Amino acid sequence: MPLTVHQFPCLSDNYGFLIRDEATGLAACVDTPDAAAILAELKTLGWNLALIMNTHWHPDHAGGNAEIQKATGAKIVGPAEVRRIAPLDRELAGGDAVELGQTRFEVIEAGGHTLGHIAYYDAADRIAFVGDTLFALGCGRIFEGTAEQMWTSLQRLAALPDDTAVYCAHEYTASNARFALSVDGDPALKARAEEIFAARERGEATVPTTIALEKATNPFLRAPMLAAQVNAAGKPAYEAFAAVRAAKDNFKG
Ligand code: ZN
Ligand code: FE
Repeated sequence: MPLTVHQFPCLSDNYGFLIRDEATGLAACVDTPDAAAILAELKTLGWNLALIMNTHWHPDHAGGNAEIQKATGAKIVGPAEVRRIAPLDRELAGGDAVELGQTRFEVIEAGGHTLGHIAYYDAADRIAFVGDTLFALGCGRIFEGTAEQMWTSLQRLAALPDDTAVYCAHEYTASNARFALSVDGDPALKARAEEIFAARERGEATVPTTIALEKATNPFLRAPMLAAQVNAAGKPAYEAFAAVRAAKDNFKG
């Protein structure tokens, strides 16, 4: 495969992602949760960092930009909002493209968690880095945008090919599964939740996921269907989504 992804835990529940375009040997990191951890992984791998790709401005995603750039000289690309806390060399927005050697990433507008949040999609390899927009069995909290904006962003991601590998920025899956089971009795979800609990018991990552798996079992993507079951049919899809999102915000479990 022309793009190699090296994934490792960072901070309490983030993932660090170092990627390499195998045709040219150029490497990038997607978000910078922990500069020291990322620089240590780079050293172990022996990779040379050319690029830092941010998804949004939150400190657990852009907080390591300055230190990693200082140590490696990598260029930083991301949404303009990153400038609130960290250096940025090139501003990106939906519809732009970023190249890492021969690998091309399409920039997908994914606002809602933050207003300027973006995702990166490598169509040739069917790999997407989605930050805090879509999680395995979950989605990001809506801090800056509206439910309608978040729903639209999630629909853009759901429209990617079914076999796209989806790299989410956090390991929230077990707690997402507990919430999902509280709102959805679907057998496919139950089976997946059992697998997730078992994987986490063994200390295994549940990221990446796939678009097909999320479309089938993620309660946020299934929100209109769930709402129809509880008699909210006829409302716009994003209102059904908003109701499930609000339930998750208040979920204790
Ligand atoms: Zn965030
Ligand atoms: Fe985050």
